Amino acid sequence: MDANPSHNFIEQIIRKDLDEGVVTKVITRFPPEPNGYLHIGHAKSICLNFGLADRFGGECNLRFDDTNPEKEEDEYVRAIESDVRWLGFQWSGQVRYASDYFPQLYAWAQHLIREGLAYVCELSAEQTREYRGTLKDAGKNSPYRDRPVEESLALLEKMRAGQVAEGAMTLRARIDMGSANINLRDPVLYRIKRRPHHRTGDSWNIYPSYDFAHGQEDAIEGITHSICTLEFEDHRPLYEWFLDNLPVPSKPRQYEFGRLNLNFTVTSKRKLKQLVDEGHVDGWDDPRMPTISGLRRRGVTAAAIRSFCDSLAVAKTDGTVDMAQLEHFIRDDLNDTARRAMCVISPLKVVLTDVREGSVEYLSAPGHPSREDMPQRRLPFTREIYIESDDFSDDTSLSRKKFKRLVLGEWVRLRSAYVIRAAAVVRDEEGAVIEVHATTVPGTIGENPPEGINPRGVIHWVSASESVACELRLYDRLFKEASPGVGGRDFLEDINHDSLEVISGCRGEPSLADANLDIHYQFERQGYFYRDAKALAADPERLVFNQTISLKDNWSNRA
Ligand code: ATP
Ligand code: MG
Repeated sequence: MDANPSHNFIEQIIRKDLDEGVVTKVITRFPPEPNGYLHIGHAKSICLNFGLADRFGGECNLRFDDTNPEKEEDEYVRAIESDVRWLGFQWSGQVRYASDYFPQLYAWAQHLIREGLAYVCELSAEQTREYRGTLKDAGKNSPYRDRPVEESLALLEKMRAGQVAEGAMTLRARIDMGSANINLRDPVLYRIKRRPHHRTGDSWNIYPSYDFAHGQEDAIEGITHSICTLEFEDHRPLYEWFLDNLPVPSKPRQYEFGRLNLNFTVTSKRKLKQLVDEGHVDGWDDPRMPTISGLRRRGVTAAAIRSFCDSLAVAKTDGTVDMAQLEHFIRDDLNDTARRAMCVISPLKVVLTDVREGSVEYLSAPGHPSREDMPQRRLPFTREIYIESDDFSDDTSLSRKKFKRLVLGEWVRLRSAYVIRAAAVVRDEEGAVIEVHATTVPGTIGENPPEGINPRGVIHWVSASESVACELRLYDRLFKEASPGVGGRDFLEDINHDSLEVISGCRGEPSLADANLDIHYQFERQGYFYRDAKALAADPERLVFNQTISLKDNWSNRA
């Protein structure tokens, strides 16, 4: 993991708290709102929270922050659970829900009213905004601020019972309308929402605000270090005010770190949802999406995402990370773990005229250049094979340096097979080469050819009759701009409409027929590929592969 302790200031705080006995066991939590799928930014928070708990022998809870019945759904709950598990983390005990604590939160709201620290306010939303003041000007007290305790208690009960119209009343904390911190200007604790909740059904007609819920939930669960993103820094005094003024069972502390932003994509659930709802992508798990499920479907491994997250600074500022950094970790992991295979994307037939018709010679090739544990591949070698159409040229003037492939009249090595020589071509009516006739150089499997035969290079190939048909889906970045929507433009205007290329009629070596979701491939000389889970579920016979990533970074060379 992270070898450099100064890399992560939260880790240092925890170490100190443990050393000084401030805490005896570290308990963190990951608190997603179930209103969308998790994205790469959430992965940073997951790796941080679960990672810290692991490192210090503590525990990390998974708690759904389901305080807003409008946007939350069970589908998201299930997707989030499976994404966290897939990333390699296990939460402590049961999954928890903010909604489990609604009764306790309500009792604490009543407690604040009795202490003279909360009141039911009847200002409209607009008036509330007006009374709040601005960064420069102090706010004004609500005319309902000093209403009797009994009256507030009774009104809160009516709000809860569904006897008050939405927007007519709120419960507010009674703190300080003159505070320099706007969050302390009598913030709203409960608002009326007369709609069913995905877990509590019709039981509640009022729902707690994030601020009123979060710290108390942390306290109930005994969270020691409540880690959130920087936008909550100004909320910390309120977080602490609740803990100081309520009979909570523990006193968690909040720490903030910078959000992860990645260039060439968006990490906002609202925007990602818009891409899905408006059909710009094929669902939350579209392989171009920066969601965990999209990355998984594309073939990115959990290990690559974890290594990427561990490489990120946990800092006190928000930062934008270059997509190339994520891509580096994806390549790094797949280079070690992907099985090698050959697949011809744009097939050109080569007839080996010295190979007997109908004969099949089985050659073998390593599953991985340095990993003995990966099974050897059996490559059927036959009279007719396919090579990549751009791996052949009939232009005999091409220099050896520029074109390290097959040229008419010359030699090339077929990967893990023979050296061959192109002798003749067959052309169509327009003069384009549609078939190459060639001969093998005997005795060249694993051996150098005789003196005077100099292959230009090594190319990949498959047997024509023994290969399998497949479709490849190649992806480019979803946005053409590094910062989609920069300068107030609609981020949708920056969508890269050429981000998906579907290539059918590709031919893969026979082992690819067994491709499954446990195997990642490197198609030699092409890139990393992974079987598409949706296509597999729809039709197990149909082979569709997503390109996870190219072998090399093509982007940094594009100007
Ligand atoms: P979004 O802006 O995408 O809706 P959110 O913060 O509202 O994100 P939550 O479901 O509330 O989403 O987030 C759960 C946890 O993940 C929070 O602790 C939040 O701080 C953290 N988180 C969300 N986005 C990022 C990000 N880009 N980088 C790091 N942490 C993040
Ligand atoms: Mg949120």
